[in-house]
Amino acid sequence: MSQSQNTELLGLSIQELTAIADKLEEPSYRARQIFDGLYRQRWQSLEQFTPLSLDLRRKLQDEGYAVGVPRIEKKFVSTDGTVRYLLAFADGQSVETVWMPEGDGGEAGDGSPSGDEELESGRGWRRATICVSSQVGCAVDCAFCMTARLGLKRNLSAGEIVGQILTVLSDQQADVQRDRINLVFMGQGEPFLNYDNFMKAVGLLVEGVKIAESRMTVSTSGIVPRITDFGAEPVRPKLAISLNAPNEALRTQVMPITKKWTIEKLMAALREFPLRNRERLTFEYVLLAGVNDDVSHAREVIELIRGLRAKVNLIALNPGPDIPFATPSEARVTAFQHALVGAGIPAFIRRPRGRDIYAACGQLKHTTELVQIG
Ligand code: SAH
Ligand code: SF4
Repeated sequence: MSQSQNTELLGLSIQELTAIADKLEEPSYRARQIFDGLYRQRWQSLEQFTPLSLDLRRKLQDEGYAVGVPRIEKKFVSTDGTVRYLLAFADGQSVETVWMPEGDGGEAGDGSPSGDEELESGRGWRRATICVSSQVGCAVDCAFCMTARLGLKRNLSAGEIVGQILTVLSDQQADVQRDRINLVFMGQGEPFLNYDNFMKAVGLLVEGVKIAESRMTVSTSGIVPRITDFGAEPVRPKLAISLNAPNEALRTQVMPITKKWTIEKLMAALREFPLRNRERLTFEYVLLAGVNDDVSHAREVIELIRGLRAKVNLIALNPGPDIPFATPSEARVTAFQHALVGAGIPAFIRRPRGRDIYAACGQLKHTTELVQIG
């Protein structure tokens, strides 16, 4: 609690806020008010916390507390409505967070209705997906991923993970009660290598921001022990696995982490994974021309995931500087999809979003120095 450096309130649980209230000799309902202001009301500075007395707001300020929402450093708007934010934290590090109106929250083909009410508001979207980062950079080093080129800079705190969502929701004037907001933890970083902060953020999003965990999907490159831990969580998002190759040799080539956690270990953990009623696993598969995009690879995928309640999202590579792979033709992508569907596996092609602004999830701030649009 140093006077010189701010202590960020964002990211604190109701228990931690209660401890602060106790320390300041305030009644514990103050903690509940702060919690509500931070997460549900999305207040961005202490002055906005009007349910608290002026005296208490001053006291918090004097003790060095601040809200701690990330700052919008850059904002790129795509012709398809996708908005890519570069969000900066107190230490100057930044991550990307992507807003996808009418986005594919991994829910393609779920047949859920979407009303017209919100369209009347003139915003042009009924639902949206936010792609959230979990680390600054990533240590996993997948060969096709631009985030990998950054290396790992640091983990994000729970407050920084939640803060991305709050900043984007406020900038888009979204209302989580009225709008259908999905979250995908598919931005920069490997969430399961920042597991505790990630799970704390999930708890705050559910309890504080009021976004149901059933509207959230986390994607992992296959950190096997954490997959098992995740399955045991009482409150958790849905699980997606970046498979990207159907056999050990090929997967090791594109995702070197396979050396540590083999496909066999990964599949064993997934077969044990306790799926909820009507829940399915999602396998993501980035198609790389001439590398993993043959129908014979699709047949290997079918064998690999046989018996699992799962669907496959196919993503044609989003090319980028320093990425030594090419995007397959549409015909190849469709042939791959048809092979899976023919074998009874639901398979969807993820539309590339915001290609003109390099907004693809997992393809992040590396490009800001290279392209600046809007
Ligand atoms: N680290 C986690 C979550 C972030 S990456 C993971 O890897 O699962 C989110 C998704 O983006 C992954 O499925 C990854 O395979 C995909 N991805 C990474 N680089 C890509 C690129 N250049 N084109 C298309 N998809 C990419
Ligand atoms: Fe990290 Fe995911 Fe990119 Fe692999 S695909 S380097 S795990 S962000």
